[in-house]
Amino acid sequence: MHKKLVRPEMDGFTPYVPGLSIDEIKKRFGLDTVIKMASNENPLGVSAVVQQRLHMASALAFRYAQAGTPALTQALAQHLGVPQECIVAGNGSDEIIDLLIRVVARPGVDNVVAFTPCFSMYDVQSRLCGVEFRQTPLRADFSFDFENLLALTDEHTALVFITNPDNPSGYACPAADIVALAARLPKRSLLVVDEAYVDFAAPVEQYSALSAFGSSPNIIILRTFSKMYGLAGLRLGYGIMPAWLAELVLRVKLPFSVNILAEQAGLAALEDTFFVAETQRVVRDGRAELSQGLTALGCTVYPSQANFLMFRPPASSLSAHEIFEALLRKGIIIRPLSSYGMPDFLRVTVGTQEENSRFLTLMAESMRGGIS
Ligand SMILES: *Cc1c(COP(=O)(O)O)cnc(C)c1O
Repeated sequence: MHKKLVRPEMDGFTPYVPGLSIDEIKKRFGLDTVIKMASNENPLGVSAVVQQRLHMASALAFRYAQAGTPALTQALAQHLGVPQECIVAGNGSDEIIDLLIRVVARPGVDNVVAFTPCFSMYDVQSRLCGVEFRQTPLRADFSFDFENLLALTDEHTALVFITNPDNPSGYACPAADIVALAARLPKRSLLVVDEAYVDFAAPVEQYSALSAFGSSPNIIILRTFSKMYGLAGLRLGYGIMPAWLAELVLRVKLPFSVNILAEQAGLAALEDTFFVAETQRVVRDGRAELSQGLTALGCTVYPSQANFLMFRPPASSLSAHEIFEALLRKGIIIRPLSSYGMPDFLRVTVGTQEENSRFLTLMAESMRGGIS
């Protein structure tokens, strides 16, 4: 009935499906403790150094942030070894994705290309802009078929999105292949490499396109403080892009989208190298333990360079959806992948050692349809 009042692009959108929240599940099933392993958050929470900085910075909350977040982009430039003019900080990398599409792609003319399944933001923001969104399937083992991706591109391809390591599979593509892809794209196409999970890949140089940033003029890299740095709720991410593009993006970005607390938290997080090392250790150990445990239960587990594992329960057990529901009732939230078009698959975020053990125990029960 309201259709005539809004843009035709609004047709066919459904709300983003986030992981369920702990409070929701506590209430729904009358549980005291709930473990969330659904949204790839940091199992160690917020670093103590960051918490302390946030306390101190709280007195600054009455101030507007400095537009363009210069203190943080300067620290990032030093941390990453790229020019400060090439870094744009945003309200999560979600904001950078949205801005890139709006700045670069012409509505009704250009297209954006990605694999399927992929992170839903690429699709939603493209279509909202009136930009055609083209997708080609990943290979059966979830690796990247760049020939198929290239086949979708043409002179109107504004952006090509890839996620590396990929979500939801955890597959990581060697950086060398990404650089080769960038060189073969049509002249005006920019390759956006979403490296939200690259901090969990090892060795990182083998997978991150960062070292090629200076020499490949059409590569854009997205990073976030939401996963490795444990700041998902504060919303902080950034893009590394050619200086000419960063300058254009900053012209139209909402000037205060990165708030003062997020900026201070980001600065402190970069300094806390102990927390980063500890997170990497916990995630790599936990990932191996979970992979082993799930395999022992008969699940097909996909190799992952991220802080989560994608797996498929055996045909003999309950279905993926039934297992997800059974785990919920026992107080563990994982991620069903039906919103990615993969109803037979599940994704679990690596937790602390205790959380991983509890998950594996309850997973064994749930697969049998048993009750604890
Ligand atoms: C989690 C995630 C991000 C990070 O988004 P933020 O807006 O920075 O929280 C980006 N891309 C992918 C593929 C992700 O899974």
